[in-house]
Amino acid sequence: MKSYLLKYCCIECGKEFNSKELHYLCDECGRDYVPGIPLKGVLEAVFDYEEIGRRWKQKPDPLLFSAVNPKFYPPLPVGNTPFFRVRIPGLKRGGTASSDYPMGIKFDGLNPSGSYKDRASQLVVADALQKEITEIVTASTGNAACSLACLGASAGLKVVIFAPQNAPPAKLIQIQVHNAELHKVDGSYDDAFKAALEYTKMHNCMCRNTGYHPLTIDGKKSAGIEIYIQNGYKVPDWIVIPVGDGVILTGIYKAFLDLQRAGITKNLPHLLCVQAESSDAITSYWETGNYHDAENPVTIADSIKVKTPALAHWSVKALIETDGKGIRVSDAEIQEAQLELAKYTGVFAEPSSSATLAGLKKAVNKRWLKTDNDIVLLITGHGLKDPGAVKL
Ligand SMILES: [Zn+2]
Repeated sequence: MKSYLLKYCCIECGKEFNSKELHYLCDECGRDYVPGIPLKGVLEAVFDYEEIGRRWKQKPDPLLFSAVNPKFYPPLPVGNTPFFRVRIPGLKRGGTASSDYPMGIKFDGLNPSGSYKDRASQLVVADALQKEITEIVTASTGNAACSLACLGASAGLKVVIFAPQNAPPAKLIQIQVHNAELHKVDGSYDDAFKAALEYTKMHNCMCRNTGYHPLTIDGKKSAGIEIYIQNGYKVPDWIVIPVGDGVILTGIYKAFLDLQRAGITKNLPHLLCVQAESSDAITSYWETGNYHDAENPVTIADSIKVKTPALAHWSVKALIETDGKGIRVSDAEIQEAQLELAKYTGVFAEPSSSATLAGLKKAVNKRWLKTDNDIVLLITGHGLKDPGAVKL
């Protein structure tokens, strides 16, 4: 199946870029970008929506929305993760004691490397194979690096990782087991991000830095298309998403925007952005209209521990346009929700993903949701990635 990707467009100035070439940020809006601030001049993948809509009517298929021809995908399959209905005792409709909320769970921790990041890595690896690039570099504090190492190994590519010295030990092992070249950076994620950009300039390779390579965003939309299909071709009322740098939130938003652009759906789901209390830059930005970094992110939910979210601007736009909301949860609330999910649904989720249930409970108490709302929790990482965070 061919890809219906037409071009890339800068989300700030609208400048267009050839999708056959390798582009990262807009050469005008992103010219002054330096690591340490939210990304500027991020590029959006734009498709031939008319043709996709026409083909969808013949046979609905998530691959119609793929930015790369699936023949370039690495052999290890990604996505098509389970979606199922659960009931969590104690989570009552509208805060009353009538009956429990039936909810959908999308369990993306069942991807090959145990996280949602595989969706982005799959597409970036496919883009490299299509462009005959044999080496990919990225900066990451954990799951994105594990994922790129895994999918890169599947495709036989050289993978280079820049990770902060203090990244979780289990994730450093997962990177190395796939034979990726690991460079520990004495500094923060921003320093690793910078080091990966410098490496890219010096070598003839591709950079997978999250948000920087446009397909890291578009790759993350495939779960949204799957949710629409698995939910019986219905747009859920709410999708609850764990949010760190905002790329998954933006990816899900882009999925439903693309479905709408192709004339397949009419409405967008409301997005509930759940953040750890100390890592709440996007929620604060949504509340106040002003961006500032999270001052001192300290949380057990390492996958959403972010000082400067890469996609802060696009994320807030997504929350406004979906009439969504942002909410903060504490580590204690995350740990309690992690046990409830495991006990009542059989899903062992890593702390960042467990935050979705904690955030939903708070949103129910605030009466943000209606009693008959159709809700989906997005579980992005497997609990076995960080068993030390569990509080039995
Ligand atoms: Zn621009």
